[in-house]
Amino acid sequence: MRPQILFPLFAEVSSLKGVGPRTLPLVQKLAGPLVRDVLFLAPVGVITRRRTNAADAIEGEVGVFDVVVDRMIAPGRPGVPLKVRASDETGFVHLIWFGGSPQHIDRQLPRGERRLVSGKVERFNGEVQIVHPDWIVPLDKGEEIPSVEPVYPATQGLASRNVRKLALGALAVTPDPDEWQDAAWLARRRWPGWKAALDALHAPTGEADLSPDSPARERLAFDELLAHQLALARRRRARQITPAPVIRENAASAALLAALPFSLTGAQAQAMAEIRRDLASGEQMGRLLQGDVGSGKTAVAALAMADAAGAGFQAALMAPTEILARQHFQRLAPMLEAAGLPTILLTGRDTAAERRARLAALASGEARIAIGTHALFQDAVRFDRLALAIIDEQHRFGVNERARLQAKADPRIGGVHLLTMSATPIPRTLELTQYGELEVSRLTEKPPGRTPVATAVLPLARIGEVAARLKAAVETGAQAYWICPLVAESEASDLAAAEERARDLRRILNIEIGLAHGQMPGAEREAVMADFADGRLPVLVATTVVEVGVDVPNATIMVIEHADRFGLAQLHQLRGRVGRGAKSSACILLYGGQDGALGETARERLETLRRTEDGFEIAEEDFRLRGGGDPLGLRQSGFPAYRFADPIRHRSLMLAASDDARMVLGRDPDLASPRGQAIQVLEALFDWRTDRSGLD
Ligand code: ADP
Ligand code: MG
Repeated sequence: MRPQILFPLFAEVSSLKGVGPRTLPLVQKLAGPLVRDVLFLAPVGVITRRRTNAADAIEGEVGVFDVVVDRMIAPGRPGVPLKVRASDETGFVHLIWFGGSPQHIDRQLPRGERRLVSGKVERFNGEVQIVHPDWIVPLDKGEEIPSVEPVYPATQGLASRNVRKLALGALAVTPDPDEWQDAAWLARRRWPGWKAALDALHAPTGEADLSPDSPARERLAFDELLAHQLALARRRRARQITPAPVIRENAASAALLAALPFSLTGAQAQAMAEIRRDLASGEQMGRLLQGDVGSGKTAVAALAMADAAGAGFQAALMAPTEILARQHFQRLAPMLEAAGLPTILLTGRDTAAERRARLAALASGEARIAIGTHALFQDAVRFDRLALAIIDEQHRFGVNERARLQAKADPRIGGVHLLTMSATPIPRTLELTQYGELEVSRLTEKPPGRTPVATAVLPLARIGEVAARLKAAVETGAQAYWICPLVAESEASDLAAAEERARDLRRILNIEIGLAHGQMPGAEREAVMADFADGRLPVLVATTVVEVGVDVPNATIMVIEHADRFGLAQLHQLRGRVGRGAKSSACILLYGGQDGALGETARERLETLRRTEDGFEIAEEDFRLRGGGDPLGLRQSGFPAYRFADPIRHRSLMLAASDDARMVLGRDPDLASPRGQAIQVLEALFDWRTDRSGLD
């Protein structure tokens, strides 16, 4: 329920003075449907005006001139601007309009009259000229021209100045609710109260006030981030209070651990401990396991499944593709079976008889572990006692698919614990916004025995050398991926480039070259991938479809053409396909096209890859490098549409907001304390719970 104090802000924008039938749709489009949305529209600029004269006026500044109108020169033909010549004691001031109405301008600037005129100063043949003056008033109305004027986002038919009036109207009905932020924190940050921050937002006195680091904007950003983190924390709590089976480690998981051909890395052991704490809590687990390709997520998944299955329940592992599901099954099933846990594979490609038998085994509880693809959550699939669902490469699945697997829960035993796994390290801030409702475990350490991948950055012009070295390597039994340019123009041209490259290589290397691309039928593509995985194909040319997570330890060379066109994270992912075995591996990043030029940022980005193989470090760096004002790109990468917060500039605020949200709900889950009640107003103000989705 919305607190009454916010009613004026949740009124329709049409209730604001100055919004009529013509402007209503414009305001709605620019700001949103509610008075609050206009209130939250932040100025994007500020005009500072100075009284000046024709002699002293500085080009580029906005000046106010006290002039006498001399004469108007109406345009003789279309395309010629209308001019008014005016002057002060020091010289001429030419006023210019493109497409202005002569009658209107004549009324504003009658010949021989004195007027105050404001506008951006240009100089033409030494004389001042102003294109489209922004103020023209008689002398006695001089105070109407603001010396500092905020500039709002505007749209055709709705000028900045109109928006400003609306914003001031919204400000006039804005309440001053009880403070919802922690007093000590506010004092430490020297932030104003909420209402004062909005007053300041709409009354910038200079450029500094527009900065995201200004106290008012920081405060508003923090409010927004806290509201968002509270919404996520609530979801987390909602899941946590869903009862789910208590699962403890047991003989089966101990047997599996003993059967693994390696001992766990510190990071794997840590993640296991976190997962086990959740599984034993009696509350439903919702955890994300983040770890670079090759960090060993599968072993963690297998141990968790053995915990659940060994405790008398069932567990399911869902992979995004047939080939991945099979790979998991082939590796895990023998060990799981040996630990006394019957395991089945379920994919879309099972024969009808196989499928029937496997479904029966799942429904009866005879099969304890199911590994498979989307086939796992089809309606016909019934579990006897499903307690744990693991989703590999979770970003390849939609929220619905996750939910459908979890919906296989049996009410007799409670909710299904969820573990999602991702091989795309993301910065903490992104993690907090995209997965804030999940707990996160990170595998920050690679299993031992990996040889680092030697990474080289070369111009495309040296492709001949690269091919020659590839030939030599292949002759000694090496396998290589060759990733083709991602040319934004069209999928068809991507394909053509890949086909051509495969032909070239076939000719130069005189060996068989596989080709995998996004437009192949899935089965055909997986067949090529399988041939490569099994060593029947020495070289695989691919567009970016190289299956995430496929493990081909014998592949030691990765060539990426036009590396400068990929995101860092994507390059890192691609590179992660090699360096998986004991043999030393190489990654060659070819940049540039015909001209071979590479910009500064592009070079810095590729350098990052050369310097480090730590996915988390690369993700942070990528995030930073993209930071130079690419809010759109960020949004595409999963950021919710914040009004005040800038995930890069306000990174530390986001971390603080996340901590604060956890602390607040931990201490005062019903938000009953005085601060809690004030926080309810904050939550209602931003509406994260009802008004936006896309948080998963
Ligand atoms: P990913 O995190 O990409 O899913 P995998 O689970 O496929 O990684 O593991 C990659 C490789 O590392 C596999 O061959 C696996 O057997 C091996 N591996 C996993 N954990 C360890 C470990 N603790 N010590 C040695 N090798 C390990
Ligand atoms: Mg994996």
